[in-house]
Amino acid sequence: MAAERVLVLAGTTEARDLANALVAVGVDVISSFAGVTQEPLLPVGRIVRGGFGGADGLVAFLRQERVKQVVDATHPFAAQMSSHAHAACASAGVALLRLERAPWAAQESDRWIHANDMAGAAARVPHGARVLVTTGRKGLQQLFARGDLSGVVRTIEPPDGALPAQWSLLQDRPPHALADELQLLQREGITCVMSKNAGGTATMAKVLAARQLGLPLVMISRPFKPPCTTVASVAEALLGITGRAG
Ligand code: NAP
Repeated sequence: MAAERVLVLAGTTEARDLANALVAVGVDVISSFAGVTQEPLLPVGRIVRGGFGGADGLVAFLRQERVKQVVDATHPFAAQMSSHAHAACASAGVALLRLERAPWAAQESDRWIHANDMAGAAARVPHGARVLVTTGRKGLQQLFARGDLSGVVRTIEPPDGALPAQWSLLQDRPPHALADELQLLQREGITCVMSKNAGGTATMAKVLAARQLGLPLVMISRPFKPPCTTVASVAEALLGITGRAG
């Protein structure tokens, strides 16, 4: 076995599946969570929460715990954690593998409006739209500043502070089924969907629903992450770390 102790930087379904698979084949795994979600679905194995205190803190953690391999399985939009992992692994001489699912790709009939970040997305929502916002609890201020917009903000954890009167909050956790997404969009009179390009299947139904209803979808591109060896599936990660298939 190549790796003795593996640190999985978590927060995604893939991170949980990988940790479970590694433990099942006898690998010593620590899964790390930022501690943002109140009741995350946890994998088996040891869990740490609350961050490391920057890249230097992560270097100290890697040394103290004698970690031989880090798997960055954070969400494609968790750019800071990935950047810290890259710097810390280089500094501590620890192997780094990124597990990152492929982004969604637009089909010809899709009405995607591309944006680079939350501010760009807020600016590009069509005038007067009723929006289903699925981009998380942070960075909503520019959207709320647009007085012509209204809609539904769907998050796992509520955003800080009260929502403006023309917005309602829907607390819900993926996965979402296509039938439910279609019903939500129609019930709420949604005319535009706003999403990060997370990829994967758990949150893809909104993309399919927007396609089916012919709605514009403001899609935020993934942020830059420093290049490193990257795989797109749990099976590939398992093979890369242990040399064996699941
Ligand atoms: P971020 O901006 O990249 O990271 C902010 C800080 O949170 C990091 O510097 C680190 O604190 C801590 N952190 C983040 N991920 C961590 C992890 N797996 N283990 C320990 N500490 C972690 O991250 P974010 O975008 O706020 O996302 C936070 C978590 O939610 C991530 O684990 C991510 O996988 C998950 N998530 C994010 C999104 C999203 O859209 N961004 C969506 C779904 C899930 P220190 O500097 O103190 O180490």
